Amino acid sequence: MTLEAKLEKILELGAYKAAVIDVEKIPFDEGLRRFCEVNHCGHYGKNYSCPPHIGDVETVIAEAKSYQRAIIYQTVTEIENSYDFEGMMAAAKKHSKVSKLIDAELQKDYSDYLMLTAGGCDVCKVCAVIDNEPCRFPEKAVSSVEAYCIDVSLLARDCGMKYVNGPNTVTYFGAFLFK
Ligand code: SF4
Repeated sequence: MTLEAKLEKILELGAYKAAVIDVEKIPFDEGLRRFCEVNHCGHYGKNYSCPPHIGDVETVIAEAKSYQRAIIYQTVTEIENSYDFEGMMAAAKKHSKVSKLIDAELQKDYSDYLMLTAGGCDVCKVCAVIDNEPCRFPEKAVSSVEAYCIDVSLLARDCGMKYVNGPNTVTYFGAFLFK
């Protein structure tokens, strides 16, 4: 089954839009790592799938570029207003759920792909890095498009998607990279 043939199913699973793109067309920007370092999300240094634990920018970009093609998708969730913290948390939860559903769908036909979603890995309630213990589920751990220095605003444009989908909405992106 081609990656393109999966797009309709991905929309059925809750994505707002989805597209296939060659990895060589994905815009990477090493400078984006500084947005992780300012730690607005609170995950920096507190999750094995986030910087600095995920690896330096050269390493993660080289890893991503070892893949050939990618499925890019986005979820869009309405919130009450820009102060609606609960709504934003619900949007993140929804994105994570949709990501896992897409992952399960792709596993039917593919293996050995790189899954990237939004924010830190949420497999464990509290990441093992906090207790200075090894990752509990390395085979399940998921990193993010941000941690891999993907310029999502440019990527959205190249995939025919909007980076922002109107007032009082939250848009999250995810990617699956294939050999
Ligand atoms: S699987 Fe658990 S321990 Fe490993 S990165 Fe994810 S949250 Fe952290």
